[in-house]
Amino acid sequence: MSDHLLIRGARIIDGTGAPWFASDIRIRAGRIADIGPSLPADGAAVVDAGGRYLAPGFIDAHCHDDLICLREPDRIEKAMQGVTTLVVGNCSFSLYPRTQDSAEQLRQHFSTLLGEIDPGEIFDSFASYRAALHERGIALNIVSLVGHAALRLSVLGYDRRAATAEERSRMQELLARQLRDGAAGLSLGLVYPPSAYADQAELLTLAQTTKAHGKLVAAHIRSYEDGLNASIDEFIDLLKSAEAPGLLSHLQSAGRPNWGKIPKALEQLEAARLAGVDVSFDMYPYLAGSSYILQLLPPEMLEGGLPSLMAKLADPQTRERMRQAVEETSPDPQAATSKVALIGWGNIRISGTSNPALKSFEGLDMQAAAAASGITPFELMVRLIQEDGGQTAIVLFQLDNDDLRAACTHRLHMVGSDGLPRPGTKPHPRAYGTFPRVAGRLRREGWFTLEDAVRRMTSLAAERFGLADRGVLRPGMAADMVLFDEAIDDQATFDTPTLLPTGVEHVWVAGQAIVENGQSTGRRPGRVLGH
Ligand SMILES: [Zn+2]
Repeated sequence: MSDHLLIRGARIIDGTGAPWFASDIRIRAGRIADIGPSLPADGAAVVDAGGRYLAPGFIDAHCHDDLICLREPDRIEKAMQGVTTLVVGNCSFSLYPRTQDSAEQLRQHFSTLLGEIDPGEIFDSFASYRAALHERGIALNIVSLVGHAALRLSVLGYDRRAATAEERSRMQELLARQLRDGAAGLSLGLVYPPSAYADQAELLTLAQTTKAHGKLVAAHIRSYEDGLNASIDEFIDLLKSAEAPGLLSHLQSAGRPNWGKIPKALEQLEAARLAGVDVSFDMYPYLAGSSYILQLLPPEMLEGGLPSLMAKLADPQTRERMRQAVEETSPDPQAATSKVALIGWGNIRISGTSNPALKSFEGLDMQAAAAASGITPFELMVRLIQEDGGQTAIVLFQLDNDDLRAACTHRLHMVGSDGLPRPGTKPHPRAYGTFPRVAGRLRREGWFTLEDAVRRMTSLAAERFGLADRGVLRPGMAADMVLFDEAIDDQATFDTPTLLPTGVEHVWVAGQAIVENGQSTGRRPGRVLGH
């Protein structure tokens, strides 16, 4: 395995958005040593690029690969897309920090998002999560955000109330330790209990702590439906008050009555920047989202966590109140419209279950699955929560193509897959196709130039997460790179969601090939990044 490599005859897309240029590139000791025409071999291992494109390795600015990086360190479906860095810990979900008391709650909480996890897969700190990844070895680089849920569970458990000043400072302390050790920032999940239970004072103190460490605040904001524009204002106000940089997670406007709101949302973000707020956003290139089944419930139903929810479901009266909250539009105009009332059971597809007895539902929508079982969709939802321990994953068909295109072609947009990896299920195809879809299909449809597509997958995210030596091909930068064909394309669809993409030839992390001739090499040169 040589640490001196010469790639000849590439079309170099440097990641800044500048047009490609034909050149050779030399890699030594994991870094780019030289870029220029007709470089001499000087004893290097030579790769003939054959006129293919060479770009910085893609950065998945938003994913939920926290757990699978421990279980499947080769991360084949990501490597095969040309991805070399994963940002995990999003939407308030991270595998750390935990206290003695919060460990079981955090384990259950995370399991509802990604399926059953072991007590040994929950960590007391960023440092021990990093140590576990390094011990196993990892093909890709990891950037990790601190999930607000883990902080809150550590200090308040599943209580639905404001934190006291003393509790706020304990959360701040806990957050500060992770950030000092190298976590990249804080992630909020303002629709997901217990993150959703925080008041503004709590959010502000945590954002201030994040800012004090020179890191960013990422947020799954409070609403992507009726309350989208107000929720963007809430996040912008938080960033402004804390003077913190921010990343708005997966910008979208869900449900037909809300289609057409994205141009206004983009204006809000531009106006905030004009006022000095350093905010940008990520989004995946698909018309459906994905989440856990508990997202169909109003946040207050999750007060007390999973055991308390199970008790509520066993009570017929509470169950009827829950049915109304889930299926009916509230007469209170201030109340948020329920997800089910907004998009309908037929647009909610069961994508993953933990209980093998429920496996046959995967791939069916709630309407069809309920009809096949001779029960109502609400009864099916209750059954899934009870028999699957709240661990059912769903795909939600809820977006508009004009909105999606407006978001994904805006200058502040970076690419994040938001993939929820769950082996053996029928997940959203974004985990297998996002990056080739952007570089291939959507670019060919005229959404952006290839160079601009690459910028959204490289330098923009590198800057946002403080990765000063990644995201651009320049001498001195880390040699994370992808070599791909003009014909690059995604293959995964909603019905065949785990097909690998085509057109990615070689992928290097720190100069080591993790994909060679379209095949995973099993090398694990990745590191957890952060300082
Ligand atoms: Zn999210």
